[in-house]
Amino acid sequence: MTAIDFALSEFQQSLRLAVDKICARFGDDYWLGRDRDGKFPEEFHRALAADGWLGVCIPETHGGSGLGITEAAVMMETIAASGAGFSGASAVHMNIFGLNPVVVYGNDEQKRRMLPPIAAGEEKACFAVTEPNAGLETAKLQTRAERRGDRYVINGAKIWISTAQVADKMLILARTTPLDASRKPTEGLSLFYTALDRRFVEVREIEKMGRKAVDSNQMFIDGLEVPIEDRIGEEGRGFEYILHGLNPERILVGAEAIGLGRAALRRATSYAKERVVFGRPIGQNQGIQHPLAECWMELEAADLMVFKAAWQYDNGIPCGPAANAAKHLAAEAGFKACQTAIMTHGGYGYAKEYHVERYLRESMIPRIAPVTPQLILCFIAEKVLGLPKSY
Ligand SMILES: Cc1cc2nc3c(=O)[nH]c(=O)nc-3n(C[C@H](O)[C@H](O)[C@H](O)COP(=O)(O)OP(=O)(O)OC[C@H]3O[C@@H](n4cnc5c(N)ncnc54)[C@H](O)[C@@H]3O)c2cc1C
Repeated sequence: MTAIDFALSEFQQSLRLAVDKICARFGDDYWLGRDRDGKFPEEFHRALAADGWLGVCIPETHGGSGLGITEAAVMMETIAASGAGFSGASAVHMNIFGLNPVVVYGNDEQKRRMLPPIAAGEEKACFAVTEPNAGLETAKLQTRAERRGDRYVINGAKIWISTAQVADKMLILARTTPLDASRKPTEGLSLFYTALDRRFVEVREIEKMGRKAVDSNQMFIDGLEVPIEDRIGEEGRGFEYILHGLNPERILVGAEAIGLGRAALRRATSYAKERVVFGRPIGQNQGIQHPLAECWMELEAADLMVFKAAWQYDNGIPCGPAANAAKHLAAEAGFKACQTAIMTHGGYGYAKEYHVERYLRESMIPRIAPVTPQLILCFIAEKVLGLPKSY
């Protein structure tokens, strides 16, 4: 009989220690500074690249370490939990898993050309899917890629595209066959990995609630020429290729949310031990203890779901329900821990120097992106419970 093993392997534990050691060089003041000035955390990105961590999921033949989503989840959780939160995690998220469509569907020439610079941290990339007029209904996106001989010409608009201010490349989904000429709305979309040529792409930063160090942008694409060699896989099958990467991305976002929640819980707990009011530490009151204990339990439970989903993915077992549940539970548990951390600090929780207000602002991101709670609940209702599709 096979036992269920909940422990990280020795290798995974050593990975966590090594990543944690790098993160320790970037303390709270560093992240608070980036939250204030909005500068991309280049030094942090470079430090992880220097020790080879950015290529964790890229095959060894193309400059990476060829590890699984489980190892990537350990790494991303560690980064967020160090206090780097989503400022740190989102700065490298795209390097870690973003080029999976190239790994799975790219040809040999593309893999040789596209993967090593991302694994080495020499290039940055962004992922351009969301559009202002389509929202979560990806099949309705309107950006067009028209074939002209040996190239495509892309025109359209994207929104919320993270790291586009610093990216050299973009992975972009565009329509190559008009919606009314496609057999299904999800057909006729194609995927390209190409240079973000700013002569043809205007990138306009969105002023947003949190994670100022990692930009999110509107993109206006006007006549961007893309050589046919930059199309990933077959024309018209881009949606299918993107779908393949959705589950592992949800697993990683879940791991990041748990890391952030743990950072908040750590700060709240240590504050509760030190702050004395009415002649005793506030943490001696059950009114302070119980919400913190609840947060710990919810983060632990969500973490089990994250690693169950990661294990399923790495073992080739369908992981849609677990990956969606993991992202949802982790995002909500992370958010609750951040909110509880502020309330534990009382007024000080509202001051930037105690860091938890920054965490709370960042904890909204995994709730919204890459998919909202409502759409996850719709997925579980339909695909797991067999209820009629509601949208
Ligand atoms: C900080 C940040 C970074 C991001 N980075 C990127 C990125 O790098 N690349 C990228 O492509 N995108 C990115 N996104 C976009 C993100 O993935 C989308 O915002 C998200 O998918 C939601 O889409 P929307 O904002 O268009 O919401 P909408 O589709 O407009 O939905 C609005 C609300 O209505 C609800 N809703 C819609 N339809 C239904 C229904 N049928 N039933 C119930 N509720 C429904 C939704 O759940 C949501 O709450 C980012 C977003 C943020 C906030």
